[in-house]
Amino acid sequence: MDVLTIISPVFGARCSVLVADGGACVVVDPGALVADHVVAAVVERGLRPRAVLLTHGHVDHTWDAAEVAERLDVPVLLHARDAYRLDDPFGTLGSLGGAAHDPDGPLAQALALVGVDAAAYRRPADVRPFGTPPGGFAPDVPVPAGTQPVERPSDEHESDERGSGISTPRDEDVDLDLDGITVVARHAPGHTEGSTLYLVAGLALTGDVLFAGTIGRTDLPGGDGPTMARTLREVVARLDPGLQVLPGHGPTSDVAAELAANPFLVRA
Ligand SMILES: [Zn+2]
Repeated sequence: MDVLTIISPVFGARCSVLVADGGACVVVDPGALVADHVVAAVVERGLRPRAVLLTHGHVDHTWDAAEVAERLDVPVLLHARDAYRLDDPFGTLGSLGGAAHDPDGPLAQALALVGVDAAAYRRPADVRPFGTPPGGFAPDVPVPAGTQPVERPSDEHESDERGSGISTPRDEDVDLDLDGITVVARHAPGHTEGSTLYLVAGLALTGDVLFAGTIGRTDLPGGDGPTMARTLREVVARLDPGLQVLPGHGPTSDVAAELAANPFLVRA
């Protein structure tokens, strides 16, 4: 598995293009201003793009998803619980986003700094959520061949004063078979309701759940401290220590190093 990395200038979000030996590829988290780089890499290498995967619905990871998916003619996949965020990239980011078209919001300012018009956001046309959406209904859109969405009853509701009071039950793994690239989508809520780790070929793409030496924030809308604590305990701490970690922001790491030294995991 070859990995091409493109860092978005907006909040430094990591976009990864995962390339299988035969040339099939998937694009993970195409943030703002990465589309031209992704498409150029695909064309120059003669790759066969299969999907855009989103670790969660925050717009620093999704801004270019519509353009990349359109130009590469592939669907956008993300956990059903975060799919609503694609409709309102500003409103679902809380204090970071502010209102749509509010030029004073931190997100709008970060976009303006690199010449991106905050009003230019487009929702991807072909979005295929996986996992259990809020309310427990099965996805009403087709998922790729080989995908087995699993429903699970909402049996784990816990909260305390440190959280939003809205804990998210955790779904079982969903296996995504994308033209020979087998990706395990592991639900890891806490940063957002639908945050997902993608495990593929010795890699763990951890989005904003796990960073080198720290973890993602839980104070934005849809985040929840107790849910994140459960994810760290039941998901992250049980990952194969040999996996390399490609986080949504910042330097790479590996699971063994994080288990040994990440203070949020040491006490999980
Ligand atoms: Zn995020």
